[in-house]
Amino acid sequence: MKDQHDNKTVDWVDANKPKYIETELGREKLCIQCGEYWPLDDEFWWHRNVKLVNGQVSKRYEAACKCCYNVRYKPGKTKNKNSIRSVYEKGEAA
Ligand SMILES: [Zn+2]
Repeated sequence: MKDQHDNKTVDWVDANKPKYIETELGREKLCIQCGEYWPLDDEFWWHRNVKLVNGQVSKRYEAACKCCYNVRYKPGKTKNKNSIRSVYEKGEAA
C-alpha cells in the first residue's frame, strides 16, 4: 500500500477524489484540470465515439471539461488570447 502523500506523479488534481460521483441530479464527472465536478453530459464535456471490438460504439468523455479543454490540450491556442501579463511587464507599473 502506498503512502497517500507519496504520490508524486498523479495526473489528477486530487488523487483521492473519485472520477465520478453520483448526485441527486445524476452522475457528475471530475475535471482533471479545474478539479470541479460537472454533470456528465454534452453541455459540459467534449466527447468522442469510440468503436469497441464488439462493434458497439461507446461514448467517451474527455478528462477535462469544455472550459478547461483548450487550456489543457491546446495550450498554444488560448495562450495568446488569454495571456495576462503582469502590469510590470506591460510597463504600466507606477
Ligand atoms: Zn474543468
